[in-house]
Amino acid sequence: MASNNSVKKSSKKDYMIIGGLILILAIVFAGIRLNSYLNADKITKIEVRLKDEVIKEIDLSVDGDYEIEVEHGHLHIRVENEAYYVYDVDCPDKICESVGIVKKGSEKLIVCLPNNIVIVQA
Ligand SMILES: [Zn+2]
Ligand SMILES: [Zn+2]
Repeated sequence: MASNNSVKKSSKKDYMIIGGLILILAIVFAGIRLNSYLNADKITKIEVRLKDEVIKEIDLSVDGDYEIEVEHGHLHIRVENEAYYVYDVDCPDKICESVGIVKKGSEKLIVCLPNNIVIVQA
């Protein structure tokens, strides 16, 4: 009986610890979300990087099409309503195109590994 009681007590305590952890995680995630939402206001452009070098900067407030020469040929970027995506990329795996539209402040990242290209917001 006594041991049964202590098992019940410890499992209740475990639930409280797990509940506490979930709450902390929720607060941390909410903080990250809020942070990226606030930072969205400061973002003005995207940077196309070849390895660590910025090879092109594109103003996100201006809609337009851009063509960039890359290792395997061309990469096209479309900017529309402060969002962007890549298309017609000369890339063997097309993972970069599958990312789709990235909005300002989004944590989505367009990466084209075969061309060593990363597009980041700045
Ligand atoms: Zn082209
Ligand atoms: Zn690619």
